[in-house]
Amino acid sequence: MMKLEIKCPKCSWKPTGEKLWICSCKHIWNTFETGAVCPKCKKKWEDTSCPKCHKWSKHLLWYSDLDKLLKLELEKLNKVQENSFIELK
Ligand SMILES: [Zn+2]
Ligand SMILES: [Zn+2]
Repeated sequence: MMKLEIKCPKCSWKPTGEKLWICSCKHIWNTFETGAVCPKCKKKWEDTSCPKCHKWSKHLLWYSDLDKLLKLELEKLNKVQENSFIELK
């Protein structure tokens, strides 16, 4: 499994694994460990702020290789289908 690269869509800052995000309930946690859900009050954050440039971006946009990963998975699926087609012949 390929590791997803996470970075700020605005300034390309990469999260260091530190707890840098503060929920409205005052809980401090690493938002990328929980997929933008506060572990304390379970609030889901659609947008994630960058500790470096302080701009907000959609949480999903932080996963820069998400498109690539999806494409790879689709290619794998296509190959499986091709192979079973050949076997049928
Ligand atoms: Zn919270
Ligand atoms: Zn940033």
